[in-house]
Amino acid sequence: TARPHWLFGDQLGPHFLDPRHGGPDPQAPVVMIEARSVLRRRRFHRAKAHLVLSAMRHRAAELGDRVRYVRAETYTEGLERARGRRRDALTVCHPTSRAALEFVRTLDGVEVLAAKGFLVPHEEFARWAGRHGGRGLRQEGFYRWVRELRGLLMDDGEPAGGRWNLDRDNREPPPRGATTLDIEDPWRPSEDAIDDEVRHDLDRWERAGEVSFVGRDGPRLFPATRREALAALRRFIAHRLADFGRYEDAMLAADPVLSHSLLSAPLNLGLLDPAECVRRAERAWREGAAPLNSVEGFVRQIAGWREYVWQLYWHFGEDYRSRNALEHHAPLPDWFLDLDAEAVTARCLSTVLAQVRDTGWTHHIPRLMVLGSRALQDGWDPAAVTDWFHRCFVDGYDWVMLPNVVGMSQYADGGLMTSKPYTSGGAYINKMSDLCGPCAYRPAERTGERACPYTTGYWAFLHRNRARLGGNPRTAQAVRGLDRLTDLPDLLAHADRRKDAAP
Ligand code: FAD
Repeated sequence: TARPHWLFGDQLGPHFLDPRHGGPDPQAPVVMIEARSVLRRRRFHRAKAHLVLSAMRHRAAELGDRVRYVRAETYTEGLERARGRRRDALTVCHPTSRAALEFVRTLDGVEVLAAKGFLVPHEEFARWAGRHGGRGLRQEGFYRWVRELRGLLMDDGEPAGGRWNLDRDNREPPPRGATTLDIEDPWRPSEDAIDDEVRHDLDRWERAGEVSFVGRDGPRLFPATRREALAALRRFIAHRLADFGRYEDAMLAADPVLSHSLLSAPLNLGLLDPAECVRRAERAWREGAAPLNSVEGFVRQIAGWREYVWQLYWHFGEDYRSRNALEHHAPLPDWFLDLDAEAVTARCLSTVLAQVRDTGWTHHIPRLMVLGSRALQDGWDPAAVTDWFHRCFVDGYDWVMLPNVVGMSQYADGGLMTSKPYTSGGAYINKMSDLCGPCAYRPAERTGERACPYTTGYWAFLHRNRARLGGNPRTAQAVRGLDRLTDLPDLLAHADRRKDAAP
């Protein structure tokens, strides 16, 4: 009989059981383990715990008699029960975290099969990195290579439409006066009996003091099954992709989703394969249903950013986790840890924190330019910031958080991943959103009662890192701007006085 195949909770789509491309035996029985210790270790967002357990239990229900679903305290205990006394041999697809990979490698009789759910095998990436590592691994070069390798949006060896990068068309502020984008709503699920059962279990464990969560949960907002994930993908491609590009970086208080796809959670649960997402987007362009800037922007997010982040996670090694190039050691304040939006006066931060509390999701600009930027300006410990994002976001997993937070958002790797730190004053937030209008602070003010914490924080950050950033061609000009600030001493004193209070 075939060796059983172990499915982790983020390997839930059919491609993880596909025997082709180094997959498991087509007759293999399936093992799934719901390990309670995972929830005990960290204070997760409750909606995330609900989504992951709901998705696992839905998958088990679909697999029926083929699966042995074990509820255990730990993976070790669960595996012992699943494998029995004879310690049956098992297969498992390459897990997505270093800790899980090490764990499965220490087990006798467990064969680790190829990773699934990404566009490029590790070995091919290693060859590319070997050729390009000298000049620094940059996302743009990587992305073009993936497009060529996979023939994505390519015509006769050239980028479709003649340009690789249409980002210039994709940075529009929200339409003037609009409070929401006038496009079809994103797909949202209806709950079923499995969702109820999971919620009931979470209540029980929480009441018993076994686990503790942050955030609000219910109703479920993201797909938990393959069928739901495909419905969400189809709706996005047919009704929302066309507007994806223009407003990709915009923020609106009353419309947190705008034209974003909301597909990160089903992608990271393994319910969707990235290849099918980019292929369907490309087809929409070829059929004239969506403009190239939107389709290229979406393909870049998946074939460029998502894939790049996955490869870098393995490429950079375990010590990447503890990088702290800017020597930031401040602890995260309680209002941030508890998602206490009401404690915050700055309207952008309060609005975004409430979105995280209520949904476990925001799009990339609030993550980078509101949440991450606050942490960077205030010098919070990057490992603690990474842990916070991992726990609080429905799409957060070790592999995707580490490069995005340590590298992209906190510049704690000193520039391995990005060529400059991402942070700004209030002017950027004001230009790209409707968040500043009614705010108690003014984006242009640097000192005094109404000084915007992002503006003050931006200049204080540049000042603190003057030596490092003054020598970087991408930030040198901003640093020179410090010399024109006649009120710099006041500004620094103001920043210092404000640093312990919620902004
Ligand atoms: P869309 O804007 O519709 O983009 C389409 C898809 O592209 C996403 O679904 C996602 O799969 C992919 N994508 C785009 N950018 C990235 C990226 N940088 N890394 C990985 N995938 C990307 N994304 C996660 O999936 N999990 C995370 O834990 C995560 N943490 C982040 C933390 C910070 C500080 C920042 C700046 C970004 C983070 N991202 C993360 C990337 C990005 O913000 C989310 O993927 C995106 O907001 C999810 O919403 P969406 O599906 O509507 O994305």
